[in-house]
Amino acid sequence: MYTEEPIIALSTPSGAGAIAVIRISGKDAVAIVAKQFKAASGADLAAVKSHTIHLGGLYDGDRMIDEVLVSVFIAPRSYTGENVVEISCHGSPYIQQEILQLFLKKGCRIAKAGEFTLRAFVNGKMDLSQAEAVADLIASENAASHQIALQQMRGGYSSEIKDLREQMIHFASMITLELDFSGEDVEFADRTEFYALLDKLSELLKKLIDSFAMGNVLKKGIPIAIAGRPNVGKSTLLNALLKEDKAIVSEIAGTTRDAIEDEMVIEGIGFRFIDTAGIRETTDVVEHIGIQKTREKMAKARIILYMLDGSKLTDSRLEEAVEELSELAATYPEIPRLTLVNKKDLMDEPMQQKASEKFEDVLFLSAKEGKGLKALEERLLSFVNRGLLTNNDPIVSNTRHFEALNNALEAVGKIKEGMEAEVPSDLVSIDINQALYHLGEITGEISSDDLLGNIFSNFCIGK
Ligand code: GDP
Repeated sequence: MYTEEPIIALSTPSGAGAIAVIRISGKDAVAIVAKQFKAASGADLAAVKSHTIHLGGLYDGDRMIDEVLVSVFIAPRSYTGENVVEISCHGSPYIQQEILQLFLKKGCRIAKAGEFTLRAFVNGKMDLSQAEAVADLIASENAASHQIALQQMRGGYSSEIKDLREQMIHFASMITLELDFSGEDVEFADRTEFYALLDKLSELLKKLIDSFAMGNVLKKGIPIAIAGRPNVGKSTLLNALLKEDKAIVSEIAGTTRDAIEDEMVIEGIGFRFIDTAGIRETTDVVEHIGIQKTREKMAKARIILYMLDGSKLTDSRLEEAVEELSELAATYPEIPRLTLVNKKDLMDEPMQQKASEKFEDVLFLSAKEGKGLKALEERLLSFVNRGLLTNNDPIVSNTRHFEALNNALEAVGKIKEGMEAEVPSDLVSIDINQALYHLGEITGEISSDDLLGNIFSNFCIGK
């Protein structure tokens, strides 16, 4: 499956830019580029040291294509572990194409999505979970997802898993040895030590599994649902919140966030308003909670904002609202709720007083005048366990890892049960192999072509 044939790709985004970077990796990468390159210094690129940069002309025969900078990385000290050349050229799409065409003629082929990183994995420059983190890092859009990806890329929990897996392998071989001597009643594997290892392993697995709930939402943005009747001011509030955030973002020239309509970032944490169309537009929130689709969507929320029009509040409306809230609480007991009384600017003091006595957790605001937004943002942040981010405990945000961790934990549980019940060693070793398999899936010690294809095809070309 794997060869060292030279692959090439544009590693910067396609389109015009100040510069573009074209990357070539493979055994002959340096030799191929050296033939087309005349260094200003007169140096022969084929003979330069690793990690050096050279200015010069890139030629197709006698025709100069561009003046470029060429960075040389000699194996194994490169991203892929092979010889790598990076050509920084002027960023015109024409020049990019000319250079790509030139090297395709000279024996390179276009790299597949993620192929550079796949080679890095195959050459042992990183394990599978680190390679996956590279993709996450490129996709990260806020401080939280960035931090999780960065930590995973730098080793995260995989070194700990690898270490415990090694120890398991040791016990597995001891137990296999016992099988060879079956009938002679010998024990090579120290049972007490093995129990201790299993406990340590379950503890780590549980901790990692628990972190996933938060890791997953931090990566994708914490989903918030807004419930409330028409005209209470839901859209006005959304716009006010998103505008504040977008204003900050648009100060950074060239960033556009048009694609992410309903996302905002508060102190590095992403929040995402889930499209609860059924809820936002419903005339009666509770009546429509019965609708399955809306139910499913609401169930995905981590926070429910229940919004009221303060200008329309009466005693009976307050009672109704309290009922609606308790129905929400009954339907979604796990999801924290916050009541928002909007249009505070049109409310009188006594009604505010009444309302604040009626609801446990309530904020008064004026979406239209942008009042109370800061307090709301603070409340939203308080729903997030930010302790998870400030300490350095690893956070699992990858669904594939989450599944493997759960499977491994199940297998470890079975090993323990089996040993306690004193089942024959050959049965225990089946469970041990299961555990080893699932642990190895995370780091990539166990992998199939299908799995690798699946993971790396989600990368961008050029990485
Ligand atoms: P939605 O149907 O819940 O999305 O409500 P909208 O956001 O469309 O708001 C309905 C109306 O209420 C609009 O005319 C808004 O301008 C107005 N509105 C929203 N928030 C406030 C507020 O805080 N004070 C006042 N006075 N009017 C508001």
